[in-house]
Amino acid sequence: MRMNKYNLIFLGPPGAGKGTVAKDVVERLGVPHISTGDMLRDAVSTGTDLGNKVKSVMESGQLVSDELLFDLVKDRLSKRDCEKGFILDGYPRNVNQAKALDQIMDELNLELTSVIFLDVSEEEVVKRISNRRVCPKCSRVYNLISLQPKKDTLCDDDDTPLIQREDDKPETVRKRYQIYSEKTAPLVEYYRNRNQIITIDASGTVDKVDEIVFNTLEELR
Ligand code: ADP
Ligand code: ADP
Repeated sequence: MRMNKYNLIFLGPPGAGKGTVAKDVVERLGVPHISTGDMLRDAVSTGTDLGNKVKSVMESGQLVSDELLFDLVKDRLSKRDCEKGFILDGYPRNVNQAKALDQIMDELNLELTSVIFLDVSEEEVVKRISNRRVCPKCSRVYNLISLQPKKDTLCDDDDTPLIQREDDKPETVRKRYQIYSEKTAPLVEYYRNRNQIITIDASGTVDKVDEIVFNTLEELR
């Protein structure tokens, strides 16, 4: 069995900071950041068959079907760059997907290193999400309070006006958190039973959370 040091899952409620921390970590580790949310949003914005199928489900804050995710994740993890390791962000989202991932990794001869669980209160994630703004062109993520763009409401990289994700509007955020509690939160127990979960206090600043995650990964070496 090939043993990669860092075959990681980032788990946590919507708005916990998974994407933000993952981007900082991949810069250091040089492994790909695999965000199923980003992949699906790309499919929607380029208007592929997959994108057309999932658009309305995503906008309403519901989960896309496990079958569609299975193929998407299996194809992505089969790519050469994943041999160095990877960070999976946003997958798995329920126990069925966790079992599917076990199967995918088995078939690809990959072994899970750890699940990094970003633990943060509902109150804090609602605050983070309602202030999240994204660049529709390059997908870079900002926050009106904690990670402001340099020029008011424009992306630092390409000057595109930032937007709020459709599913980040207040009515949908509450529903997404409820779905997280029902479907995704049980994965903490799933991976805890297998001794694979590492819980991180993600309530601090981005720098603080990055530091805790970097130190944790260092200890895994
Ligand atoms: P968040 O910021 O809440 O972590 P993501 O960007 O991960 O959101 O996901 C946005 C949306 O994309 C989800 O609400 C869901 O509709 C869809 N999605 C992403 N990953 C999955 C998945 N693993 N299973 C089902 N749906 C998913
Ligand atoms: P997720 O991928 O878990 O949905 P994001 O990484 O997109 O979460 O972060 C959600 C929002 O909160 C973004 O606007 C991001 O800039 C901001 N954010 C991320 N981490 C922190 C943090 N530790 N403190 C304050 N704001 C944060």
